[in-house]
Amino acid sequence: PQTPLPDAAALITAPTHSLAKGSGGHKYGHGHALVLSGRAGKGGAARLAARAALRIGAGLVTLACPQAALPENAAQLNAVMLTPLPDAYALRGLMKDERLNALCLGPGLGAARAQEMVPAALWGKRATVLDADALTAFESDPELLFGQLHPDCVLTPHLGEFARLFPDLAGKLSDPDQPGYSKLDATREAAARAGCTVLLKGPDTAIATQDSRVALHSATGARAAPWLATAGSGDVLAGLIAGLLARGATPFDAACSAAWLHAEAARSFGPGLIAEDLPEELPRVLRGLA
Ligand code: AMP
Ligand code: MG
Repeated sequence: PQTPLPDAAALITAPTHSLAKGSGGHKYGHGHALVLSGRAGKGGAARLAARAALRIGAGLVTLACPQAALPENAAQLNAVMLTPLPDAYALRGLMKDERLNALCLGPGLGAARAQEMVPAALWGKRATVLDADALTAFESDPELLFGQLHPDCVLTPHLGEFARLFPDLAGKLSDPDQPGYSKLDATREAAARAGCTVLLKGPDTAIATQDSRVALHSATGARAAPWLATAGSGDVLAGLIAGLLARGATPFDAACSAAWLHAEAARSFGPGLIAEDLPEELPRVLRGLA
């Protein structure tokens, strides 16, 4: 049975904003997402995010990585553009391109590089997904991160990452003396504190905005896909959100639609699902929506 939803929470269903591409459009009209990647040998997660951003329909996706990681990325990616990115100074230069309208920070970035790059990226005030290393890099001083976030950001922690940024809220969630405190409550409080949208992952995915709009994607519904619990699956979700942001979706719509599309893409697989399968399944999912 479904658990009753707290006040004003919508159960996420198929995207209501259009994902179609009109005839006569130009690739720049569909947005340009930038995915930051880390050092050689550690960039698989960023590649998954980049492919997901392209598969959800961003017109262009660029992956920026250290010079030494260019060969491995070039060997694995074709439609995703590559650019060397030595340091935060170079990132500020990239951010001068006004057509670059969404960023994906965290998957495959590395905590040290995240500490350097996240402030420069947020300075550019683009719609931005922060996941994985972009969250963990600030575990010793979450307020430092919150002070730089803006309303076009989306944080996508799993419960472990959430507990590093919001230890008190994670504590309330696991406190047997607060049985009524739900994942949605924690996500809503986190979003208010961060000043942006927060998507808290897990078997159920809760989404909240800084102004208390909330939604839930429930694994207890017909679309449960426990095989989403596999390495790299969250990186694909981050890329989907970045791609939708690039296409002009609001942070809340991007987060809700990505959670639904992610689960929907997983549905036709079984326990053998690997993260690579998810972006490749998206064309069928999107065609089914048209
Ligand atoms: P990450 O931990 O960053 O790799 O993200 C894991 C992804 O898989 C998130 O989108 C979760 O919501 C999803 N997920 C994890 N466990 C489950 C589960 N048991 N059932 C459905 N989805 C899950
Ligand atoms: Mg992850």
